[in-house]
Amino acid sequence: MKRYAIIGGSIAGVSCVEGIRSVDQKGEITLVTAEETSNYGRPLISYYLEGKTDEARMSWRGADFYEKMRVRVLHGTRAEAIDTAAHTVALSSGETLGYDALCLCTGSSPVCPRFEGLETVPERHFFTTLADAKALERTVTKETRVLIIGAGFIGLKCAEGLRDRAGSITVCDLAQHAMSASLDADSAPILERHLEQNGIRLLLGNTVARFDGGTAHMQSGEAIGFDVLVIAVGVRPETALFAAAGGAVGRGILVGETLRTSLPDVWAAGDCTEGFDVSAGAAGVLAVLPMAALQGECAGENMAGQRRVFDKGMKLNSIGFFGLHIMSAGTYTELVYSEVTQTGCKKLFAKDGVLTGFILVGDVARAGIYTALIRERTPLDAIDFDAVCREPSLLPLGKDYRTKKLGGVV
Ligand SMILES: Cc1cc2nc3c(=O)[nH]c(=O)nc-3n(C[C@H](O)[C@H](O)[C@H](O)COP(=O)(O)OP(=O)(O)OC[C@H]3O[C@@H](n4cnc5c(N)ncnc54)[C@H](O)[C@@H]3O)c2cc1C
Repeated sequence: MKRYAIIGGSIAGVSCVEGIRSVDQKGEITLVTAEETSNYGRPLISYYLEGKTDEARMSWRGADFYEKMRVRVLHGTRAEAIDTAAHTVALSSGETLGYDALCLCTGSSPVCPRFEGLETVPERHFFTTLADAKALERTVTKETRVLIIGAGFIGLKCAEGLRDRAGSITVCDLAQHAMSASLDADSAPILERHLEQNGIRLLLGNTVARFDGGTAHMQSGEAIGFDVLVIAVGVRPETALFAAAGGAVGRGILVGETLRTSLPDVWAAGDCTEGFDVSAGAAGVLAVLPMAALQGECAGENMAGQRRVFDKGMKLNSIGFFGLHIMSAGTYTELVYSEVTQTGCKKLFAKDGVLTGFILVGDVARAGIYTALIRERTPLDAIDFDAVCREPSLLPLGKDYRTKKLGGVV
């Protein structure tokens, strides 16, 4: 009977289990996860803080998932070293876990820059796990002044989650715009206005120069008093375990088209990897939930003996703040369509006659169609592109295309 080991029990790890079981019903699966709770949707931690969900409902696949899939789960356990010759993993519990096929689904970890005086701040937090959300839930009250460093989606989701719990929320970022990794100078101001209308103070192009206990001395010269600090300046792929075993690492664990790594019988999936970005035509870290799910499933199937290629990778972000929807995807090359108002934005980008990326703020209709056009690398001259951008109906795509690519549903 084949022995499978999976390190990490989040989106990629859970999807890897599903991929294995879709091919091999009998093999032994052991999943090792450092967290006490696994199998929960990480993007839901802000909704947990808002009181819009609870731990039970945050489960990605239901509480009995591992039992149904016949998986031995080791919660609160770290994988500490991989011995590729012996095909074993040393665990923090003292156990040595043998495997025939191993998948690294170790995700990413929050980055903590070296701010002068950071050690003098008594209440400092990250915001990437359910444990982080629970710690903030315990700490923040209606009197609490919260300072968040980082106006990317994690920092802003934290601001949204805490808005009704805290006395005040200030978010600063060295970048000139909120969500600067996915929004541009036309789209970001729409989000910024919306956040400020909802009680979030933004300080952009400005960050902390030095901390002195509960005071942040900003680069602008302003001094900001706070009670709780949240550091949300980004995440980096968790590659240390793999690299220590001699595996090839770039910005993430390097994987081939079947998500195999450079180490024998070792695969990797999710935020920890650097895979192929179809929209850029180059390798990249695709640290978003849908990619972790798709990669995990694909890696699992391949571990179990299938040969499936993962060729649909691209950055794809779907998020909302206080009711404002935002979707962005791919690579922003040459602007081929633009519609910007005070409350909404639609921008489409293309290169060599195929769509490579889009930004939608407000009205996110059509995002699925644009995503399919990017993934399939559909030549824009094969469809009525102008009408695809403007018309409320999908008829301009043509019957053949609609039948083939959209299953004839429209
Ligand atoms: C607040 C927040 C909001 C988000 N919102 C969105 C969104 O709206 N849309 C979107 O697409 N994405 C969003 N994301 C990103 C998304 O959650 C990630 O892309 C996704 O969780 C990646 O899944 P993963 O399984 O690769 O890794 P992770 O979710 O990072 O999980 C990795 C797991 O591996 C464990 N682990 C690591 N090393 C070891 C070890 N040595 N031994 C044992 N266990 C180990 C970790 O403890 C962790 O449980 C959000 C993330 C956060 C934090």
